[in-house]
Amino acid sequence: MAHQINSRNPGELMGISARTNDIHYGKLYAGYVAKRNEIEEKIGKIKPYELEFANQTYSKLRGLKEGETFAANGMILHQLYFSILGNGGKPAGELYKAILKQWGSWESYYNEMVAVGLTARGWAILAFDFSDMKLHIFQADAQNQGGVWGAMPLIALDVYEHAYFIDHGSNRKAYIEAFFENLNWEAIDKRYASIKTVVSK
Ligand code: FE
Repeated sequence: MAHQINSRNPGELMGISARTNDIHYGKLYAGYVAKRNEIEEKIGKIKPYELEFANQTYSKLRGLKEGETFAANGMILHQLYFSILGNGGKPAGELYKAILKQWGSWESYYNEMVAVGLTARGWAILAFDFSDMKLHIFQADAQNQGGVWGAMPLIALDVYEHAYFIDHGSNRKAYIEAFFENLNWEAIDKRYASIKTVVSK
Protein backbone atom coordinates (compact mmCIF):
# COMPACT_ATOMS: atom_id res chain seq x y z
CA MET A 1 0.00 0.00 0.00
CA ALA A 2 1.19 3.48 -0.75
CA HIS A 3 2.48 5.60 2.13
CA GLN A 4 -0.13 7.82 3.75
CA ILE A 5 -0.16 11.06 5.72
CA ASN A 6 -0.84 9.77 9.21
CA SER A 7 -0.43 12.62 11.67
CA ARG A 8 -2.38 15.89 11.79
CA ASN A 9 -1.86 19.59 11.23
CA PRO A 10 -1.61 21.09 14.74
CA GLY A 11 -2.84 24.50 13.49
CA GLU A 12 -2.11 27.62 15.55
CA LEU A 13 0.36 26.94 18.38
CA MET A 14 2.16 29.12 20.90
CA GLY A 15 4.95 30.73 18.89
CA ILE A 16 4.32 28.66 15.75
CA SER A 17 1.62 30.13 13.53
CA ALA A 18 -1.14 28.33 11.65
CA ARG A 19 0.39 29.68 8.42
CA THR A 20 3.73 28.04 9.16
CA ASN A 21 2.05 24.76 10.06
CA ASP A 22 -0.26 24.89 7.03
CA ILE A 23 2.72 25.19 4.69
CA HIS A 24 4.94 22.83 6.67
CA TYR A 25 2.31 20.13 7.02
CA GLY A 26 0.19 20.61 3.93
CA LYS A 27 2.94 21.26 1.38
CA LEU A 28 6.28 20.04 2.70
CA TYR A 29 5.38 16.98 4.78
CA ALA A 30 2.68 15.96 2.31
CA GLY A 31 5.23 16.47 -0.46
CA TYR A 32 7.65 13.97 1.11
CA VAL A 33 4.91 11.36 1.36
CA ALA A 34 3.94 11.91 -2.29
CA LYS A 35 7.55 11.85 -3.47
CA ARG A 36 8.30 8.68 -1.54
CA ASN A 37 5.37 7.00 -3.27
CA GLU A 38 6.45 8.33 -6.66
CA ILE A 39 10.07 7.19 -6.20
CA GLU A 40 9.09 3.72 -5.02
CA GLU A 41 6.81 3.35 -8.02
CA LYS A 42 9.62 4.42 -10.37
CA ILE A 43 12.14 2.06 -8.75
CA GLY A 44 9.60 -0.73 -9.21
CA LYS A 45 9.37 0.07 -12.91
CA ILE A 46 13.08 0.37 -13.62
CA LYS A 47 14.00 -1.92 -16.49
CA PRO A 48 16.60 -4.71 -16.06
CA TYR A 49 18.75 -3.16 -18.83
CA GLU A 50 18.79 0.18 -16.95
CA LEU A 51 20.52 -1.52 -13.98
CA GLU A 52 23.52 -2.06 -16.25
CA PHE A 53 24.00 1.74 -16.39
CA ALA A 54 24.33 2.01 -12.58
CA ASN A 55 26.97 4.65 -11.85
CA GLN A 56 27.99 6.56 -8.73
CA THR A 57 28.48 9.92 -10.52
CA TYR A 58 25.11 9.86 -12.20
CA SER A 59 22.66 7.23 -13.24
CA LYS A 60 18.89 6.99 -13.15
CA LEU A 61 19.07 4.45 -10.34
CA ARG A 62 21.43 6.67 -8.33
CA GLY A 63 19.03 9.60 -8.59
CA LEU A 64 16.12 7.48 -7.44
CA LYS A 65 18.02 5.84 -4.57
CA GLU A 66 19.30 9.20 -3.34
CA GLY A 67 15.79 10.63 -3.44
CA GLU A 68 14.36 7.55 -1.76
CA THR A 69 16.14 8.02 1.59
CA PHE A 70 15.62 11.79 1.52
CA ALA A 71 11.88 11.38 0.99
CA ALA A 72 11.53 8.44 3.40
CA ASN A 73 13.27 10.21 6.26
CA GLY A 74 11.47 13.46 5.39
CA MET A 75 8.20 11.58 5.77
CA ILE A 76 9.17 9.72 8.96
CA LEU A 77 10.70 12.70 10.78
CA HIS A 78 7.82 15.05 9.90
CA GLN A 79 5.29 12.44 11.02
CA LEU A 80 7.03 12.37 14.37
CA TYR A 81 7.35 16.17 14.50
CA PHE A 82 3.64 16.74 13.92
CA SER A 83 2.51 13.85 16.14
CA ILE A 84 4.20 15.33 19.23
CA LEU A 85 3.25 19.01 18.71
CA GLY A 86 0.15 20.50 20.31
CA ASN A 87 -1.51 20.37 23.77
CA GLY A 88 1.76 21.48 25.29
CA GLY A 89 2.36 21.17 29.00
CA LYS A 90 5.04 20.70 31.57
CA PRO A 91 7.47 17.87 30.78
CA ALA A 92 6.28 14.69 32.50
CA GLY A 93 6.09 10.94 32.09
CA GLU A 94 8.42 8.01 31.58
CA LEU A 95 10.69 9.56 28.95
CA TYR A 96 10.97 12.69 31.09
CA LYS A 97 12.12 10.48 33.99
CA ALA A 98 14.63 8.71 31.73
CA ILE A 99 15.98 12.10 30.58
CA LEU A 100 16.41 13.22 34.20
CA LYS A 101 18.21 9.97 35.01
CA GLN A 102 20.61 10.25 32.10
CA TRP A 103 21.25 14.01 32.02
CA GLY A 104 20.91 14.68 35.75
CA SER A 105 18.46 17.56 35.28
CA TRP A 106 15.92 18.82 32.79
CA GLU A 107 17.99 21.99 32.23
CA SER A 108 21.05 19.95 31.31
CA TYR A 109 19.13 18.01 28.64
CA TYR A 110 17.18 21.05 27.43
CA ASN A 111 20.28 23.22 27.04
CA GLU A 112 22.04 20.51 25.04
CA MET A 113 19.04 19.96 22.78
CA VAL A 114 18.72 23.73 22.17
CA ALA A 115 22.45 23.92 21.38
CA VAL A 116 22.28 21.01 18.92
CA GLY A 117 19.21 22.67 17.40
CA LEU A 118 21.35 25.76 16.82
CA THR A 119 24.26 23.85 15.30
CA ALA A 120 22.22 21.51 13.07
CA ARG A 121 21.20 22.46 9.54
CA GLY A 122 18.21 20.14 9.47
CA TRP A 123 17.23 18.29 12.62
CA ALA A 124 18.12 17.80 16.28
CA ILE A 125 16.79 14.43 17.37
CA LEU A 126 16.45 12.75 20.73
CA ALA A 127 16.64 9.04 19.98
CA PHE A 128 16.93 5.77 21.84
CA ASP A 129 19.87 3.76 20.54
CA PHE A 130 19.46 0.00 20.98
CA SER A 131 23.21 -0.53 20.54
CA ASP A 132 23.94 0.92 23.99
CA MET A 133 20.39 1.21 25.35
CA LYS A 134 20.84 4.94 25.92
CA LEU A 135 19.24 8.17 24.82
CA HIS A 136 21.26 10.35 22.44
CA ILE A 137 20.82 13.75 20.86
CA PHE A 138 21.78 13.33 17.22
CA GLN A 139 22.39 16.07 14.66
CA ALA A 140 21.20 15.75 11.07
CA ASP A 141 22.14 18.32 8.44
CA ALA A 142 19.69 16.87 5.95
CA GLN A 143 16.91 14.32 6.02
CA ASN A 144 19.15 11.56 4.68
CA GLN A 145 22.25 12.49 6.63
CA GLY A 146 23.04 12.05 10.31
CA GLY A 147 20.66 9.21 11.08
CA VAL A 148 21.96 6.35 13.21
CA TRP A 149 20.79 2.95 12.06
CA GLY A 150 18.50 1.16 14.45
CA ALA A 151 18.04 4.13 16.79
CA MET A 152 14.44 5.19 17.37
CA PRO A 153 13.71 8.91 17.17
CA LEU A 154 11.52 10.15 20.04
CA ILE A 155 11.66 13.95 19.80
CA ALA A 156 12.36 15.36 16.33
CA LEU A 157 13.12 19.06 16.28
CA ASP A 158 12.97 20.45 12.75
CA VAL A 159 15.39 23.36 12.41
CA TYR A 160 15.15 23.94 8.67
CA GLU A 161 14.28 27.62 8.10
CA HIS A 162 10.79 26.73 6.84
CA ALA A 163 9.87 25.70 10.39
CA TYR A 164 10.36 29.18 11.87
CA PHE A 165 11.28 31.96 9.45
CA ILE A 166 7.71 33.25 8.98
CA ASP A 167 7.22 33.53 12.75
CA HIS A 168 10.66 34.35 14.10
CA GLY A 169 12.85 35.48 11.23
CA SER A 170 16.39 34.34 11.93
CA ASN A 171 15.75 33.92 15.67
CA ARG A 172 15.88 30.16 15.66
CA LYS A 173 16.30 29.99 19.43
CA ALA A 174 12.88 31.60 20.00
CA TYR A 175 11.34 28.93 17.74
CA ILE A 176 13.13 26.10 19.58
CA GLU A 177 11.79 27.45 22.88
CA ALA A 178 8.29 27.55 21.38
CA PHE A 179 8.70 24.00 20.09
CA PHE A 180 9.37 22.77 23.62
CA GLU A 181 6.40 24.76 25.00
CA ASN A 182 4.11 22.94 22.59
CA LEU A 183 5.36 19.38 23.15
CA ASN A 184 2.68 16.85 23.97
CA TRP A 185 4.32 14.61 26.55
CA GLU A 186 1.50 12.08 26.49
CA ALA A 187 2.07 11.49 22.78
CA ILE A 188 5.83 11.30 23.35
CA ASP A 189 5.35 8.72 26.09
CA LYS A 190 3.16 6.55 23.90
CA ARG A 191 6.03 6.29 21.48
CA TYR A 192 8.54 5.71 24.24
CA ALA A 193 6.37 2.89 25.61
CA SER A 194 6.85 0.96 22.36
CA ILE A 195 10.61 0.87 23.03
CA LYS A 196 10.03 -0.55 26.47
CA THR A 197 7.92 -3.33 24.93
CA VAL A 198 10.80 -4.27 22.63
CA VAL A 199 13.45 -3.96 25.34
CA SER A 200 11.55 -6.10 27.86
CA LYS A 201 11.34 -9.03 25.41
FE1 FE B 1 10.30 20.48 7.90
